[in-house]
Amino acid sequence: MSGVAALLADLVAIPSMNPMGRDRTGSMYGEAALADYVATFLRKNRIDVEVYDVHPGRPNVVARVTVGAPTTVLLEAHLDTVHADNMSIDPFRPDMRGGRLYGRGSCDTKGSLAAFLAAVTGLLAGGTQPAVNLVLLAVADEEYRFTGAQAAVARGLTADWGIAGEPTQLRIVRAHKGVTRWKIVTRGVAAHSAYPERGRNAINAMGRVLVHLEEYAGSLSDRTPHPDLGKPTLSVGVIEGGQAVNIVPDRCWIEVDRRTLPGEDRAAVLAPVAALLRGIPDAAIEEPHIEVPGMEVAASAPPVVALSRSLQAITGAAVIETAHYATDAGVYNRHGIPTVVFGPGDIALAHTADESIGLGELETAVRVLERMIA
Ligand SMILES: [Zn+2]
Repeated sequence: MSGVAALLADLVAIPSMNPMGRDRTGSMYGEAALADYVATFLRKNRIDVEVYDVHPGRPNVVARVTVGAPTTVLLEAHLDTVHADNMSIDPFRPDMRGGRLYGRGSCDTKGSLAAFLAAVTGLLAGGTQPAVNLVLLAVADEEYRFTGAQAAVARGLTADWGIAGEPTQLRIVRAHKGVTRWKIVTRGVAAHSAYPERGRNAINAMGRVLVHLEEYAGSLSDRTPHPDLGKPTLSVGVIEGGQAVNIVPDRCWIEVDRRTLPGEDRAAVLAPVAALLRGIPDAAIEEPHIEVPGMEVAASAPPVVALSRSLQAITGAAVIETAHYATDAGVYNRHGIPTVVFGPGDIALAHTADESIGLGELETAVRVLERMIA
């Protein structure tokens, strides 16, 4: 077994499921145990580490290798995974067969985390001085609210450019959409349904909201598309309201999912919706509970060029592409750190019942990163 495969097996064996807003607690949930493993691993390799809580018991880990180089590179991966309900394999007993490692998080995104750790510590252990200063960042809560990345930025994270590790099959993702999610609530007055005129129906008010939102979603699809990412979208995914059929409902809410293009900020997302709803006084827009910006890094920018060169040298080819999913890279780009998405593993296997990663690809990732850093 290679060093990076053994390291990944260790990471997968430590559950770090994101409770994702649900009432789930216990040792299987949260990032603390995995953060502790990562911090200990780095300290053993004589790298300075800082661990701080993003939420109680849910930390980020940040480590710095400073060699006095003019350029500082961020290597970031998230610690959390989605839940392991209904998996067809044992999620936390890493199983290696057929050249693959199976387990929750193997692909999304402990494979990237293992590759970063192995590349940096491997170089240092071999006596090679990196050509760049490094910030190794392992964050909480990417799978739900991106608050780990936001906390890192709020604490003054700096780097000249970066890589966010996600399963891209070793392709360079230089642009992706963002996502903003929020609730709209309508309020009414409850009454006996035999006397509906005594109440004010919150579900009827929401009906008017939905008509406006559907029209607005249609107008988004009329916009000029981004050359790579297409058009922004809006979708209402959840609705809840009413207590019983014989009560005029006094409350209804929906949850809205808006996929944004790079450069669309919170005001660009919410202001048009607020304007549409001005004629419905019973409707109120809540603050977004999930917000990650879209991002776009030029094909000529340092992270694309540096990774491309290294990929060419190691694998003979470099693929540069764009994606529709959102990642922590959006947060770093908005903060002024040009950051691409790159890592071993296939996004099609992320979050699946038999999640796995190819060990050959994992080892290639380490070689690509080592070359890029050296
Ligand atoms: Zn991920």
